[in-house]
Amino acid sequence: MPKFGETSRSRLDTCHPDLQRICERVITVFDFSVLEGERTLELQQKYFKEGKSKLDGVSQKSKHQSKPSNAVDIAPYPIDFNEKEKARARFYHLAGYMFMAAAQLKADGVITHELRWGGDWDSDKDFADQNFDDLPHFELA
Ligand SMILES: [Zn+2]
Repeated sequence: MPKFGETSRSRLDTCHPDLQRICERVITVFDFSVLEGERTLELQQKYFKEGKSKLDGVSQKSKHQSKPSNAVDIAPYPIDFNEKEKARARFYHLAGYMFMAAAQLKADGVITHELRWGGDWDSDKDFADQNFDDLPHFELA
């Protein structure tokens, strides 16, 4: 059974309990790494400048900037950021587990939030109507 490494665990610990519960459920069946939880303003501004985020961190704050973080970035393990179709498909696969876990945990009263994903910002299950993909990113809606 997969489990979090120390680095992933310490990053996940900076996230909202709902995100922790969801990730803890998914790691039991599918191995992934936690890339980032809480994020400083400085880092948010760096990502904005690099085009990795659409939010400047001041007038528009990222959900990573709250304490605890209302967003978590994760990637299937082993990590492969190749833009090739099958590398990207692993992120969609992981998202399926995340949404199933979130739905179950919410139905069981363990968590209270809905999940929103950077691969489907408007949550309409149409992945083609996006102009900005952030496949590792999940946040509380
Ligand atoms: Zn993110």
